[in-house]
Amino acid sequence: MKDAKQILKQQFDEMVRSLQTTIGFNTEKSEPKEGAPFGTNIRDCLDSVLALAESFGFKTYNCDGYAGHVDFEGDGDGVLGILGHLDVVPAKAEEWIYPPFAAEIHDGKLFGRGAMDDKGPMIACLYAVKALKEAGFAPKKTIRLIFGCDEESGMQCVEHYFAKMPYPTVSFSPDGDFPVINREKGIYQFDVVCGKLPNGVQINAGDRANIVPSECKATCDKPLNIDKYPNIKCVKTQRGYSYVSTGKAAHGSTPDEGLNAAHALLAALAEAYPDNAAIDFLFDKATDTCGKKWGIALSDKESGNLTCNLGVLRTAQDGTLTATVDIRFPVTYSCRQMYDMLRANTPEQFPIIEAHVSEPLYVRSDSELVTTLMDVYNSEMGTNLQPIAIGGGTYSRCLPNCVAFGPLFPREEQTIHMPNECVDLNNLRLMAQLYLEAIYRLAK
Ligand SMILES: [Zn+2]
Repeated sequence: MKDAKQILKQQFDEMVRSLQTTIGFNTEKSEPKEGAPFGTNIRDCLDSVLALAESFGFKTYNCDGYAGHVDFEGDGDGVLGILGHLDVVPAKAEEWIYPPFAAEIHDGKLFGRGAMDDKGPMIACLYAVKALKEAGFAPKKTIRLIFGCDEESGMQCVEHYFAKMPYPTVSFSPDGDFPVINREKGIYQFDVVCGKLPNGVQINAGDRANIVPSECKATCDKPLNIDKYPNIKCVKTQRGYSYVSTGKAAHGSTPDEGLNAAHALLAALAEAYPDNAAIDFLFDKATDTCGKKWGIALSDKESGNLTCNLGVLRTAQDGTLTATVDIRFPVTYSCRQMYDMLRANTPEQFPIIEAHVSEPLYVRSDSELVTTLMDVYNSEMGTNLQPIAIGGGTYSRCLPNCVAFGPLFPREEQTIHMPNECVDLNNLRLMAQLYLEAIYRLAK
């Protein structure tokens, strides 16, 4: 077998160009079309990646536009799955230094929505497999790269795909952190109907449950006392008062890394409208990040504390306020326990409607999968790290015997789901080498 790592190094510039092409598709979820359940851009992006893989000599499969896969066939039993996704969370161009879908390179970094989450690492895996093939590697297991198209907003892609295709024998997902994530908290996303706001009042914030809202807007028929809240600005309008609260976006599983714009505005509103049950309820329960106010602050030694993100606030035409909340609970609890606890701590008049729930994931640290990946990482990087626990949201939990492996390095600045998402080209080179070694060891 030739030196696959050397081949991968030589093809780095080509890999970067392919990544730029892939980022060029704005793969935010959009209106479904025939054969394009998550919008035509996502379908076009999937077609483009599968065509690229075919040009490398791999067999591909397009699963009705929901997902697709690329196979490097093995001569023995078993399938090594590599599960990632092509869809991205929305990008507001005005918050970015460089256009989010132009994939420009500045100061050794490639900027673009999806650069890290998850197009960069998936293109790195594709080129790692290409290099192994060109080096003459004959895998025992079939190596299967699975490209999902709906990871960020409901995971219908994997639901559809795995209804038609068997689960791989063993898998990793390059959609988390290095070294290895083998514990992911449970996810409990729900809508809670808070009831009617006072006449003339509207509150709106956020787009997604899993993002900390960086902006919250309210209109009122009377002025709020905002002296205590430097991040709230008032605009007097003809019909009343308009308020904008500014925070900082972050991933919903790490709400403490952001600043929830809705918290301050709800506090100011609760002061101005003390008799409104909807405002009072939300302010009372949902304005911290640990669930303490709601009475659900669970914790365990395997995965740490529960987190609570008030992701979306919507006022309907009739004045009814609905909130969407994203809770990540520790791995030793279940969705059922989470629901029971929430229900017990929420007055009857506020319906809780499950939106997206997912049991925690825990693959043992002494399993062959985890020890192999940990050994790849520690020996390549010269470290002595241990596998880690996170708030979840990676693909790993969608299939049995799967853990997350990269792409974020320890202490690397986190830009996933934020403006100016970027991948450091040195890190891209490094992750591709790690993926190559991991795929080789798991499939040989
Ligand atoms: Zn992702």
